[in-house]
Amino acid sequence: MNQSERRPDLECENPYILLTPGPLSTSVTVRRAMLRDWCTWDDDYNGDIVTPIREGLVKLASSVRPEDYTCVLMQGSGTFSVESMIGSVLPTDGRLLILSNGGYGARLVEIAKRLRIDHVVHDTGELAPPDLVRLEETLETDGSISHVVMVHNETTTGMMNPLTDVARIVKAAQKVFLVDSMSAFGGVPFDLGELGIDFLVSSANKCIQGVPGFGFVLAKRDELIKTKGFARSLSLDLYSQWQTLEEGGGKWRYTSPTHVVRAFAQAMVELEEEGGVPARFARYTENQRILVEGMERLGFRTVLPRELQSPIITGFYDPESDQYEFKRFYSLLKEKGFVIYPGKVTGISSFRIGTIGHVFPEDFRRLINVIGESMYWKR
Ligand SMILES: *Cc1c(COP(=O)(O)O)cnc(C)c1O
Repeated sequence: MNQSERRPDLECENPYILLTPGPLSTSVTVRRAMLRDWCTWDDDYNGDIVTPIREGLVKLASSVRPEDYTCVLMQGSGTFSVESMIGSVLPTDGRLLILSNGGYGARLVEIAKRLRIDHVVHDTGELAPPDLVRLEETLETDGSISHVVMVHNETTTGMMNPLTDVARIVKAAQKVFLVDSMSAFGGVPFDLGELGIDFLVSSANKCIQGVPGFGFVLAKRDELIKTKGFARSLSLDLYSQWQTLEEGGGKWRYTSPTHVVRAFAQAMVELEEEGGVPARFARYTENQRILVEGMERLGFRTVLPRELQSPIITGFYDPESDQYEFKRFYSLLKEKGFVIYPGKVTGISSFRIGTIGHVFPEDFRRLINVIGESMYWKR
């Protein structure tokens, strides 16, 4: 990526970059892909854009067993796809074990409650990973649990939950395994086939760096076929959406977000040009390393210990000063071209900075300089 070519474009169109996943900062070429209209009846949209996206996502999902997987695209923000998955794959007599350690885990619980799905929650609090021993014991003793769901990267804190360990335990117990990998898929290397993941959700505007408007579910085809007729919603019926996409050669059931889908097709091309998921992971990791080293030099401390921290988003404790006010800090940074996130951890005053999107090590070096200049409470 040529930085000197990139910046002028970005700066003339965007007054700031988003360190707030998501939405997140996208490339100018992704945004430009939205400039024309598309007819959804023909192959130039369904066959040439939608179908390659579905196939491309399956390729990203698994290189060891791609033939086992299929992909369903779903309108709406990421939560719509999470709700579609949970509401469509549990049978009426199913029971869901939810591993929760943050705001997105809590959202899974809320969805199960709203949909009146029988569930049990393992909540380890926002600062601890799932309890693997308790998980194993529960799956051994409670035979009525049919499905297990977890958040992969808990975006509330930036905690990378132990997907491989949980997958091993859940699959050994022969339960259906569901994953909200919204803020990790496409930016963190892992193989659904290797881990035995049955259903996984992500969305257009996270690590694949598209614009917001739809999400997707990657599903083991055999497991998806078993769920026909289970859906608790008409528009979020995962099986029906899949059936229409399959039979209609890429046709969506209801109005497709055409411009967003076209932008996503461009984002998929750019992911491949960058060198795929491993290269993207390396860039995010480098972004985060520069961020944390720079922040620590300025006297900030991270909320999570390094071993639990993902390269996606990082929480920092607020400075200990009566003068400090998030809103003022936020505004100063925004004026200088960077938008950060408020904190979300209960009982801890903190803020967060995302390191995913069309953002580069150079941006984080500039950010550290700008933060250094904006520490008004130190003067
Ligand atoms: C972003 C995100 C979601 C979806 O949020 P929306 O606002 O509905 O797009 C769900 N889970 C996680 C872990 C996320 O990071």
